[in-house]
Amino acid sequence: MTTLTYVSVRKTFGPTVALEGLDLDVKQGELISLLGPSGCGKTTALRIAAGFEFATSGAVLVDNADITRTPAHKRNMGMVFQSYSLFPNLTVANNIDFGLRTRKITAVERHRRVAEMLELVELTHLADRYPHQISGGQAQRVALARALAPRPSVLLLDEPLSALDAKVRTTLRDEIRRIQTELGITTLFVTHDQEEALAISDRIGVMSNGRLEQLGDPREVYRHPSSAFVARFVGSMNQLPAVVNGNHAVTVGPHPVVVPHTTMADGTQVRLLVRPEDLHLTDEGLDGSVTSCTFQGSSTVLGVRLDVVDVLVAVHVAGVADLNPGERVCVGIDGARAVLESTDTTPDTASGTASDAVPATSPA
Ligand code: ATP
Repeated sequence: MTTLTYVSVRKTFGPTVALEGLDLDVKQGELISLLGPSGCGKTTALRIAAGFEFATSGAVLVDNADITRTPAHKRNMGMVFQSYSLFPNLTVANNIDFGLRTRKITAVERHRRVAEMLELVELTHLADRYPHQISGGQAQRVALARALAPRPSVLLLDEPLSALDAKVRTTLRDEIRRIQTELGITTLFVTHDQEEALAISDRIGVMSNGRLEQLGDPREVYRHPSSAFVARFVGSMNQLPAVVNGNHAVTVGPHPVVVPHTTMADGTQVRLLVRPEDLHLTDEGLDGSVTSCTFQGSSTVLGVRLDVVDVLVAVHVAGVADLNPGERVCVGIDGARAVLESTDTTPDTASGTASDAVPATSPA
């Protein structure tokens, strides 16, 4: 059984605060993704667990034992980086064996473990190849096997899929999850790719400016973001100008929308953040013109410019919607999971504008 715990971990680099009091508990066999924009502190958090950096204050525990000051080589952590960092002069098998050489393991046992790892990552047939003779996806599997061979208590993955092309990334992502579940290894996974985090994790920790903004089950984080930052960063969001009208309502133009409880005063100008799947075509709602119609297999994404607020929104429609640019539609808003953001506090340049939810290329 292994747990990894951060207790109020703070890390500064000179004047830069990389982590501002991180509290996190990765449970036995759990995979937690740390997700956030560049510079939010996720790699620093991982490196502190690995022992490559030391916390300025706070503590790191493994199975409740304090390892805050334990040197990296005594931590028994497996680490995979974005760059495969394989030894070019060693074969695939010898790369995997490398981490075992420094341990007190017999040659027979080492041989057995290398074979076991090759099988686990399905690369037995490439055991004698050198790194330059294998693909990027295969190289990253070797890196994973090498990290797992010494049977680490915790697996730390730092953007392991970022250097791979889209298709390989998806396959390897699922592969990592299969192996992690099969071994039941406690894992921390760092990524800036929200789709990756949603697909692979037991829980996601969304970070911003060295802080954990929200920690939760992927569905919970997606469906009930705790802040406008999380709402924008995880999944796409439409943004509509609105005005608060009571504790549970806003108006978008003349159209009333029921929203979660707000304490903002009546008349406050806000941005209503609402997912494309929470907009629908209806008979009564906001009139607009179709700008694009993108068939995505199980659903269609419509780009619609709403007349009254002059905003382009994305509307997810189940199945096939055969609409042409210029066609008139009426859009309804389900505000039950919407997030309100006061327009006074956030600039218009915030990431994830309304049009981000609309596909860039949109054959009609
Ligand atoms: P990215 O996705 O770009 O890797 P990140 O979320 O992993 O970003 P970190 O690498 O943890 O972010 O960096 C957090 C902050 O700490 C950044 O402002 C970064 O510039 C700073 N930082 C990280 N390492 C160092 C260092 N060795 N010296 C000085 N500042 C550092």
